[in-house]
Amino acid sequence: MKGIQWQNGNCLSCIWFATKDPLNADLFDRAKCIHPKLNIYQLVVSGRDWCNLFEEIKQRQIEHKQEMALKEEEKSG
Ligand code: SF4
Repeated sequence: MKGIQWQNGNCLSCIWFATKDPLNADLFDRAKCIHPKLNIYQLVVSGRDWCNLFEEIKQRQIEHKQEMALKEEEKSG
């Protein structure tokens, strides 16, 4: 399977960006920010947003999310 690249330096590549579709997430994706300090505000951010609590997601975490999503797709398909 071809690796899917996520852009660096914004919500899309932050560990707190709770995308529901990790296989297709892109800069235009909108998702909840689940950072423990921001969670209470129930923020919905886009992949292009950014804040100073940004923490870069590791490639293996992206792959894990994508594998889980693939398994879900296989179950429902
Ligand atoms: S708002 Fe900040 S903490 Fe939340 S996903 Fe974006 S960069 Fe990460």
